[in-house]
Amino acid sequence: MAASNGAGVVVVFDFDKTIIDCDSDNWVVDALGATQRFDELLLHLPWNSAIDAMMGELHSQGKSTEEIAGSMRTAPLSPHVVAAIETAHALGCELRILSDANAFFIDAVLAHHGLAGYFTEVSTNPAHVDAAGRLRISPYHDFHHGSSHGCTLATCPPNMCKGKVMEEILQELSKEAGKTRRRVVYLGDGRGDYCPTLKLVERDYMMPRKGYPVWDLIVADRHAVRADVRGWADAEDLETVLLDIIHECAAASKMEEDGGHQVVVPAECRSLPLASAPELAMPVLPKAIQAPN
Ligand SMILES: [Mg+2]
Repeated sequence: MAASNGAGVVVVFDFDKTIIDCDSDNWVVDALGATQRFDELLLHLPWNSAIDAMMGELHSQGKSTEEIAGSMRTAPLSPHVVAAIETAHALGCELRILSDANAFFIDAVLAHHGLAGYFTEVSTNPAHVDAAGRLRISPYHDFHHGSSHGCTLATCPPNMCKGKVMEEILQELSKEAGKTRRRVVYLGDGRGDYCPTLKLVERDYMMPRKGYPVWDLIVADRHAVRADVRGWADAEDLETVLLDIIHECAAASKMEEDGGHQVVVPAECRSLPLASAPELAMPVLPKAIQAPN
């Protein structure tokens, strides 16, 4: 099979509990013994501000950014997720990350597992190490100065509306040359993954993690989601379901290229010159043959 078979598919991954099998903020905080303090901070701060404040306190306690990165490198990441990423990329898919974690944690994980080169774009909360060596984590959408991302969905936190980012991705894709825009496959588990799910249309796919908040939200109003929904339970399942979708999309886009119907060339015509084969084939097999699902 040609390496370009999966071209025409953009796979967008959530990060926490999708690529890694834990929440990165909780993982770091637990690893550095600050669980109770983080819970206190969460009582009066939005999550994204609480994790930034937590990094400030860890810095005052003498914890280095290298220790923080080191703890991220021990976060669980299944070989099935690695295989799914590598195979999807090898099949010609474009891969992106859309996450409410932060650039520092995500970079540490991707670099450690040798995965950074597979992703063309990571949309997440920005992070940087300041002059004093303290890790700063900022909101993706700046909500501090009276501004807001404007999304009123209760499932979107103030610092990031993943639906807005998904809209931008879809707009970007629809500006590309070609008859139809590339298909999007979105994978996620959390409440924040519901808004981008609602932006997808019929030609796209949503892969919610079964039994997790975004799954429950989708199930609660099945007609609100236009995308084809394919659940996954664990990393092994994620790999199987994602690769099945990519193969389906490759078959579907081949049919689109062929003009909306698939021309099947009978065996006896296959040795004929390509240009004349479809015309000969048409009267023989007038009905399109659907690609198996
Ligand atoms: Mg998640």
